[in-house]
Amino acid sequence: MPKTVIAGNWKMNQNPSEAIELARAIRDGFDAATNVEVVLCPPAISLIGVSEAVQGSAVRVGAQNMHYEDAGAFTGEISPLMLQGICDYVILGHSERRQLFGETDDLVNQKVKAAFRHSLRPILCVGETLEQREGGQANTVIEAQVRAGLSDIVDITGLVLAYEPIWAIGTGQAATPEIASDIMGGAIQQTLQSMFGPAANDVPILYGGSVNPGNVASYMSQSPIHGALVGGASLQAEQFLEIVNLAGAAK
Ligand code: PEP
Repeated sequence: MPKTVIAGNWKMNQNPSEAIELARAIRDGFDAATNVEVVLCPPAISLIGVSEAVQGSAVRVGAQNMHYEDAGAFTGEISPLMLQGICDYVILGHSERRQLFGETDDLVNQKVKAAFRHSLRPILCVGETLEQREGGQANTVIEAQVRAGLSDIVDITGLVLAYEPIWAIGTGQAATPEIASDIMGGAIQQTLQSMFGPAANDVPILYGGSVNPGNVASYMSQSPIHGALVGGASLQAEQFLEIVNLAGAAK
């Protein structure tokens, strides 16, 4: 069973000093004995500050995105080389990147490969739209995203998968634990198994979509769910720490 992971995606929130303050509050309140891997993913401009704030603690840092090239004429982008030493993780293929910034499965796959090349742990996000779910296509869509995102990759050591149904993100309409578990133990786990064999068993699979202190335990009680990717509820230290503690206790 992979270690429980609770990652906070701060999205485009918190200025650099607010981010450091939030990171310090989480660092100070986090009890490493919960045995949960806590990952903070602030905006790029705050990565260094947050990384310094949590240095020496068990709290880890992740980026929200990156380019796949090491360097070059890519205005506004950040490369995996730049993240090395600052981050351990990088979120890739988040549905907001796919939907608002036109990221394709192929691009996401290039980024996942770049993360592995640079010893960054990719948190590969997949998820279906409401139309796809209502059209009975959820399993097919998720399987295709997992296959494409991990295409031409042999060693998946360090990989984290996040199932984030698009209709549940930031809407307060969380997927039921049964729906999440069905996709995570089905389309995701089975696709990983068929692609990578037993190595699939080491991949933490996180649920994301309106997770909060009131519902996190119900997800964690499902065996195919190994953690959560938390958006809105990760922006307040107390709330986020409650999620971490509840997740640790439930596993
Ligand atoms: C997310 O964006 O990754 C997310 C899960 O957001 P929220 O928890 O706010 O739904």
